[in-house]
Amino acid sequence: MNILKRARIRYILHRHAIAHGLWLEIVDHLSLLQGLTAVEKAHLRELTTLFLYEKNFIGAQGFQLTDYMRVGIAVQTCLCILEIGLSCLSGWTDVIVYRGPFRVSRDTADAVGVVHHQDHVLSGESWSRGPIVLSWADVEQDMQQSPRNVVIHEIAHKLDALNGTTNGYPPLHYGMSVSEWTEVMSQAYEALNHSLEYQYNSGLDPYAAHSPAEFFAVVSEVFFCHPERLDSQFPEVYRQLQLYYRQDPKRRLHAASRMI
Ligand SMILES: [Zn+2]
Repeated sequence: MNILKRARIRYILHRHAIAHGLWLEIVDHLSLLQGLTAVEKAHLRELTTLFLYEKNFIGAQGFQLTDYMRVGIAVQTCLCILEIGLSCLSGWTDVIVYRGPFRVSRDTADAVGVVHHQDHVLSGESWSRGPIVLSWADVEQDMQQSPRNVVIHEIAHKLDALNGTTNGYPPLHYGMSVSEWTEVMSQAYEALNHSLEYQYNSGLDPYAAHSPAEFFAVVSEVFFCHPERLDSQFPEVYRQLQLYYRQDPKRRLHAASRMI
């Protein structure tokens, strides 16, 4: 990093620092962050500050956003990229937040070219080169130790889309094996579909079976929120995500439980 860039970052971190009380209020109560070391928390705070500076938070339909909401969303986002860097989230600006679940209308053409109009109610969505859109009611619920996490889900889609297509195959880091990733993820995806067919509870949200992209987004949620569950049910998937996110949330949780 050149000197000018470093100076700019230092300026932003100083000028736009997150209020200490607000930071503690969020970080101390977010179970996702349990077990982070003081150094990791400091790094997370810097990334969160830079993310808040770079992105434009917009309350939809007159919804008034507070600093608690902005920081709450930003900190969960930055946990995902804590070890892979903020540059993974460049190329888009807007974070649009609705008060609650929001309705979208889409026209889709089927195989024979007939266009179908569909209405969906969503808690979040991610546009490949556009904003992420979130329901605050869902984000807030997820912050109270929920089995799911809409922010992580949408950020996983953003990371997935970095190589041009959202297909459950994000650009892998140097040293990671493409064939191993593909084999592990495909096998687990097929196993999930198989278990749903036979009504066997795999422990994963059935929504993961919708497509490989949704599978990646859902296992990313479980990786951060319930790492032990993912590791016991899909250990190879856990290992691939550990390599991808360069984090080990299961080890973190163990460390946190030893401190209690
Ligand atoms: Zn999704």
